[in-house]
Formats: sequence, C-alpha cells, structure tokens
Amino acid sequence: MESRFDAVIVGGGPAGATAAILLAGAGRKVAIVERSRFPRGKVCGEYISPGTWRLLASLGVLAALERSAGPRVERVGLFTGEETIAAPMPHTAGDAMAVPAYGRAVRREILDRLLLERAAEAGAIVLQPWRATGIERSRGSLGIRAASKVGGAEQILRAPIAIAAHGSWESGALPTQAKRRAARASDLLAFKARYRGAALARGLMPLIAFPGGYGGMVEEDGESASLSVCIRRDRLERLRRARHGSAEDRESAAACVEEHVKASVRGVREALAGARREGSWLAAGPIRPGIRAQIQGGVFLIGNAAGEAHPIVAEGISMAVESAWLLCERILAAGAASGESAALARIARSYERAWRASFAGRIRAAALFAGLARRPCAAALLVPLLRRAPRLLTRSAAWSGKDRVLARPANSVLRIDCATART
Ligand SMILES: Cc1cc2nc3c(=O)[nH]c(=O)nc-3n(C[C@H](O)[C@H](O)[C@H](O)COP(=O)(O)OP(=O)(O)OC[C@H]3O[C@@H](n4cnc5c(N)ncnc54)[C@H](O)[C@@H]3O)c2cc1C
Repeated sequence: MESRFDAVIVGGGPAGATAAILLAGAGRKVAIVERSRFPRGKVCGEYISPGTWRLLASLGVLAALERSAGPRVERVGLFTGEETIAAPMPHTAGDAMAVPAYGRAVRREILDRLLLERAAEAGAIVLQPWRATGIERSRGSLGIRAASKVGGAEQILRAPIAIAAHGSWESGALPTQAKRRAARASDLLAFKARYRGAALARGLMPLIAFPGGYGGMVEEDGESASLSVCIRRDRLERLRRARHGSAEDRESAAACVEEHVKASVRGVREALAGARREGSWLAAGPIRPGIRAQIQGGVFLIGNAAGEAHPIVAEGISMAVESAWLLCERILAAGAASGESAALARIARSYERAWRASFAGRIRAAALFAGLARRPCAAALLVPLLRRAPRLLTRSAAWSGKDRVLARPANSVLRIDCATART
C-alpha cells in the first residue's frame, strides 16, 4: 500500500514529534513513524533547559508538563571524589507568561507521550508501533518503507520531504542510521536509574566526574531523583571482572557502575544513602557524540540523528526540539513550493548553516568537559580552581547553552507564542 504526504518523519522522540506538531499545525499532511509503544523510558537525565521551555510552551504542552516537572534547577554542582562544589545556574530572562526562566526535569515517559499526542491533535498521522525499514528515491520524491510491529502490515509513505529523527544510539537499515561496528574500549555506555528518597539539595543539578566516566543527578518530580551516567566500555569490563567474573546482563553491569560511582564520589554516596531504587536500570549505547550530516541523500536529519553533545551538558532534548524548529521554520517559509528541488536545496543550505551556528559550539564545549571529567587527574587539578571561583561552573553551564534562546530569522513564519500555552 502506498500513501502520499507532504512530509514523512521517522522517529517520535522530542525531535520528530516537534517537527510533526509544527508542520501538521501549519496545515501540512504529515505522517510520523515511531517504533516503540509509549510511554517508554529512556536513558536520559531528563533536564530541559529554560530556552526550550519557551518552545514547548508554543507547542501547547506547557501546562501539562509543568504539572509533572521537577523543581526549578537554580544551582549547578560538581561532585567528584570527596568534593562537592555548587554555584548559581545561569538562566534566561523568563517572560510575561511566566514560562520558566530556569530549567526543570520531566520524565521522558511523560514528555515524549505528550508531544506525540499533541502531534496527533495537530493532524499528523501517527504510525505506532511501526518501524521505518528503508528509504528510496523515485519519481522526484522519497518513499519511506514502514512495517507495523503488530501484525506486520507494510506501507510505503511517499513525500517530497523526509525527516530522520530516529536518534543515534542504535544501528539500523536506514541510510541515515549508523552501521553496526565492532566494540571499542573507548565506547561510552549509558545507564540510568531513579531513586526515591534521595538526599539531593533542592534545585541542585550536580555534574558527576568519576574515573572512566561522568554523569548527573537531578530531582524529577518532588519524589524521585534520577542518576544517569556514561562509562567507558573498558572500565566497565574491568569492574565486571573484579565483581562478577564474566556476568553479562544489564542489571549486574549497572550494579557495578552504581558501586563504582558511589565508591568514587562522596556526593553520590551521600545523596543515595537512604534512597531506594525505583524500577530497573535502563541501558543504552554506545552513545555517538559528534557532529554529523544535517542532510543526507535528500533526507533532513534533526535531533541526535544530526549531531549530539556529550550528555554531560544535558542539552540533547533542547537540541532535538530546537533543530526541529530550525528546519520546520525554513520548510514553512518556502510555502507551497517547499517540496520542489530548488526550494529543497535552499532549505538544506540554510538549515545546515543555522544548525552549525546553534549547536557546533555546544557540542565542542561538551566534548571538552567530558574529556576532563573522565580523567581523575584533570578533575583533581580543576577542583582547587573551582573551589576558589565556583562561578566558573556557572560560566561553563552558560557555555554549554543553559541561558541560550533559539536564534531566529526576522521573517520567521513560526511564532513563539507562549500565550496559547496556558489555555
Ligand atoms: C546518560 C544520558 C543522560 C542524558 N541526559 C540528558 C538531559 O538531562 N537533558 C537532555 O536534554 N538530554 C539528555 N540526554 C540526551 C537526550 O536523551 C537525547 O539527546 C534526546 O533523546 C534526543 O532526542 P531525539 O528525538 O533526537 O532522539 P530520541 O529521543 O532517541 O528519539 C528517537 C525515536 O526514534 C524512534 N526510532 C528509532 N529508529 C526508528 C525506526 N527505524 N522507525 C521508527 N522509529 C524509530 C525511537 O524509538 C525513538 O523514540 C542524555 C543522554 C544520555 C545518554
């Protein structure tokens, strides 16, 4: 079966759902293919920067998100070894509609479900749980092959515009997805768990630096705090061999990581001393930080698919929402001609430039911080400096994007309209 659309989006995470809301909301015929059933958990610290709250407000999900969000994150911290250092978190100006000037965390089970529901309300056709299995070009348009995960029905979704928003942590058959590659010692594997009763100071988001990895903690909803970490594969292997022999399963790997982080970092040990883990560990990876293509074989890439900062800066959700915004702004500005090849080439050039201006600096800053955090000797050298000048943490958080709002063209067709957010 073949159906025609103005745009087809692969992946219903924050990037894909944002694109679907914006395009369908502007009257375009949109299909979005999401492989998982929602709600689903995700390895993610779930912190959302203040500039992104303004965009989420314009997407019409502010009120629902605020009901489930954690407290305002007003302080950034560093937990490393026996040291705990804290400083003010940078923030945006806020606005008349009281859209948060500080970042807050929201469970991905809630954020992703709300955004995808909003996309359906805006008129997007949501195929879920369906998997996109191929993309081919013919007769001047792109055909996205998709298969239902229940019953196996198949469809070709044809459109002049295809958007890859499938994230980056899994290999797959699509030309925009990473190919499977051999494991490397330097791979970063990601783990996340939630704890009830954690003793984390209210409004503090500490960055955690430990031998072989880094991570973060944040309070999610007044009851739980999340711990999410990335650790080098070779370090994890050493920990596993020391603890369990050759145990391979996720829970025992995660238990090794938890023990290692608690043993190495006093701040985490104390925060989790009386806490109880909620549910099981989630694991993902290897993660693939770096700058990739924003257009490939005529397909636009947004979110992690286009490029990804080390999660030490907790900017991935923001970059997902913002990159969708940058692309859709340009598609809609091209009007009815946006599917024609000359217009597509112009959109691609402009999107690529805007993407690099918005995110390349953030990705490089994150790579620098991640490199320092993973090396105990670098962290040990930095600690005396940060103790004397904790505001350097504030500056670093600003450099990673925490007080930034999306730069927009003067003639943008998309309004950031926070007034509708509270209706
Ligand atoms: C340890 C860790 C902590 C982090 N903490 C934070 C944080 O605190 N704040 C923050 O902003 N970011 C954080 N991030 C990063 C953040 O999770 C990602 O950057 C973000 O999820 C990217 O969004 P996305 O929409 O691009 O991709 P994703 O959220 O990965 O969504 C992609 C979607 O595509 C679907 N999909 C994939 N393949 C197909 C297919 N073939 N067909 C159909 N559907 C498909 C998937 O099921 C998925 O739902 C963290 C990451 C890690 C590893």
